Amino acid sequence: MRPVRFNINPKEANASTAVSMVEAPEGYSGEGFFTTNLSSVVGLARKNSLWPLPFATSCCGIEFMATMASHYDLARFGAERVGFSPRQCDLLMVMGTISKKMAPVVRQVYLQMAEPRWVLSVGACASSGGIFDTYSVLQGIDQVIPVDVYVPGCPPRPEAILDGFMKIQELVGKESIRRRNSEQYKALMSSYGIQ
Ligand code: SF4
Repeated sequence: MRPVRFNINPKEANASTAVSMVEAPEGYSGEGFFTTNLSSVVGLARKNSLWPLPFATSCCGIEFMATMASHYDLARFGAERVGFSPRQCDLLMVMGTISKKMAPVVRQVYLQMAEPRWVLSVGACASSGGIFDTYSVLQGIDQVIPVDVYVPGCPPRPEAILDGFMKIQELVGKESIRRRNSEQYKALMSSYGIQ
């Protein structure tokens, strides 16, 4: 049996009890009411409706295709709406070797995405240049944009990409809605020359 959890187990006849539900955020509940904080509710919505922008340049992109296809099915995480319009996406997935010529393009795509945005670096090449320690290859996309989660491997299997995606979901779900206005976040952005 592959280590993949489907929303509906085909062996179970009763689909109404086999559908996985997202966990409710922490809070107080009673007869007819439930209270929690705004960040938790926003985080819950954001983490289960990420819109990825796949920036795939080489072999790791093929693993991403498998991740999107029916067996691994990234859509189970609410992320089936893959887009190639930066302004309508909030998760940049960089997969593959990024040459130094391509680095300004990755950065431009990142800058065109609206906040809040997150970055998943998939595979050794995107994370560190991989085996290509050469004059022409960028030694990690974090030289030009901030990265939230790195997925190791050359290439990482779809399970590893899903794991990285779920780590992003964890970050997104726990992120305070005030974080993007914090001094630390502004300092991080300014360290990349982004105002
Ligand atoms: S990490 Fe390996 S599989 Fe992925 S793009 Fe680089 S060489 Fe290809």
